Amino acid sequence: MAERIGFIGLGIMGKPMSLHLLKTGYPVVVHDLNRPAVDELVAAGATDGGSPRAVAEQTDIVITMLPDSPEVRQVILGPDGVIEGVRAGQAVVDMSTISPITSREVAQALAVKSVTALDAPVSGGQKGAVEATLSIMVGGPSATFERVLPVFQAMGKNIVHIGEEPGSGQVTKTCNQIVVGITIMAVAEALTLARKAGVDVAKVRQALLGGFAQSRILDLHGQRIIDRNFAPGFRIKLHQKDLGIAMASGKAYGVPLLTTGLVHEVLGSLVAQGHQDLDHSGIARFVESLAGLED
Ligand code: NAD
Repeated sequence: MAERIGFIGLGIMGKPMSLHLLKTGYPVVVHDLNRPAVDELVAAGATDGGSPRAVAEQTDIVITMLPDSPEVRQVILGPDGVIEGVRAGQAVVDMSTISPITSREVAQALAVKSVTALDAPVSGGQKGAVEATLSIMVGGPSATFERVLPVFQAMGKNIVHIGEEPGSGQVTKTCNQIVVGITIMAVAEALTLARKAGVDVAKVRQALLGGFAQSRILDLHGQRIIDRNFAPGFRIKLHQKDLGIAMASGKAYGVPLLTTGLVHEVLGSLVAQGHQDLDHSGIARFVESLAGLED
């Protein structure tokens, strides 16, 4: 019999991901604070769990897809949380982007009840969730990874077991967000210089794409900057959260993240100016305003 899946957090990402599990044939029990999201999943064939605890009681594998560390801690470890409903042998899989320190805390608390935890954040955005092509980076025990792999395969394509250590999936996602954030900043500075120097920005992008400065960010976000297309995509406020996680991780592990800190502040400034819901390629707006350029 197919494992019964609990799914908590039915937002932009969680809704399409849980729909793929239903389509693949898994029995799915859902929970979210947002009633219409639960109703939509129930209409598609899921069961309404009612609470995180009740979801755990009715399922074999519990997945969470929540905004940030405080919500994951609340849903898994809080009152009426997943931890109150679990049995020995169950697996709890957090697919949110959160602090690796929280992932370790959650794994340790669940281990006391003989429940294994995986941290399995994703990359690929809403499009990847809708098309079931997410990249999934997983930390936790190999045996649990093998057990949950068919469930991951219903939602994603590039599924990598990073290591046994809880939190290693989240560390990988943090690394991803550092590279993406700093590269957007670099592309924004280069294209702003080209623009202010009166050089054709599209030609600059084209020339750089054939050389050592080539990157997916230069390709996609460079084009967005040229097109002035800052509709999300991935929102500035979410990237700010992720670089906040990076900075806390750097502090915890003794790694000064100088450039990440700068980009984190740039994102914070954009949020303070009301640009939190722009795509993160909107970092270009910040660089341009320093250079005295209007939109
Ligand atoms: P979202 O805000 O759309 O969805 C979060 C859902 O969690 C909402 O439906 C909300 O009602 C629910 N929720 C919040 N607190 C809850 C609680 N205490 N109990 C039950 N439900 C609760 O967010 P999203 O865009 O789906 O992102 C989810 C996670 O995935 C985040 O960590 C985000 O950083 C990460 N992520 C997002 C993207 C993207 O492009 N949107 C890409 C990769 C990773």
